[in-house]
Amino acid sequence: MNESIIRRAKEAGQVQINITNIRDFATDKHSMTDDRPFGGGEGMVMKPEPLKTAIESVKVKNGSGHVVLLSPQGRQYNQKVVQELSGKEHLILICGRYEGVDKRLIDVSVDDEISIGDYILTGGELAAMIIVDSVTRVLPGVLGCSDSAEKDTFSRRLLKHPQYTRPRVFDGVEIPEILLSGDHAKIEQYRFLESVRRTLERRPDLLAQEYGSFSKAEVNLLKKNQLFDQIKKLHTGR
Ligand code: SAM
Repeated sequence: MNESIIRRAKEAGQVQINITNIRDFATDKHSMTDDRPFGGGEGMVMKPEPLKTAIESVKVKNGSGHVVLLSPQGRQYNQKVVQELSGKEHLILICGRYEGVDKRLIDVSVDDEISIGDYILTGGELAAMIIVDSVTRVLPGVLGCSDSAEKDTFSRRLLKHPQYTRPRVFDGVEIPEILLSGDHAKIEQYRFLESVRRTLERRPDLLAQEYGSFSKAEVNLLKKNQLFDQIKKLHTGR
C-alpha cells in the first residue's frame, strides 16, 4: 500500500486507507477473536462480537460505509465490480481467517460478499489488497494518463491488443510496420482488430457478450476482415 501508484494516490488525497485490528475489539483477557465451531468439526470460526464492534467503530469514524466480506463464497470479482465499488464513498473490507466468520455477523453487518476467484486463500488480506489496488486505479486522476484505465482489457469485453516498445528489432523480430506509419486512425483500426483476434483466440466467451456493443464503423471493419460472422456465431450459437 506504500508503493508506486497507490502511494501517490494516498499522498494526493485521492484515497485514504486505514487498517483496523479486529483483536483491539476483543473483550476477554486473551483478546480472542475466534472460537471452536458449534456442532464440532475442524478449525476455528471468527467470533461475531469483536467484528461487530470493529465495524461499528469504523462506521462512526467515517459516517457510514459499504461493508464487504472477502469470501470464497461471494460474488465473483471482475472489472464491473471494480467500477461499482469505486463509486462508493467508503468501503469497509473484512478479512476472514480460519474457517470463516459466524453467519449471524454476516447476516447483520455485511452488505456484500466478494470472492476474488475459485481458490482458497489462508486469509482475506490479499483479497482485500486486490480490491484496494484495482479500485484505487480507476479513481479520477489516479492514473497519470487520463484514458489509460478506459482502454484496459475488460473496460469493454475485449482483451487489450499486444504492446511493443523499443528496440524496433528484438531477437530478429520486427515490430508491426503499421505502428511506425504515424497514421493514428489506421493504428487504432489495427489495434482494434488485434484486440478482437486475441479475444477470439483466448476468451471467446467475452466476445459473445460484446456482440451487440460494436459501433457501426466497428461492424464494417469486422466484416471487411472476415471476423464479424465468427463473433455472431459465438453470440447466437449458430
Ligand atoms: N472454510 C472456508 C470455506 O470453505 O468457504 C474458507 C475459509 S479461508 C481458509 C479463510 C478466509 O480467507 C475467508 O474467510 C476469506 O476471508 C478469505 N478467502 C479465502 N479465499 C478467498 C477468495 N477466493 N476470495 C476472497 N476471500 C477469500
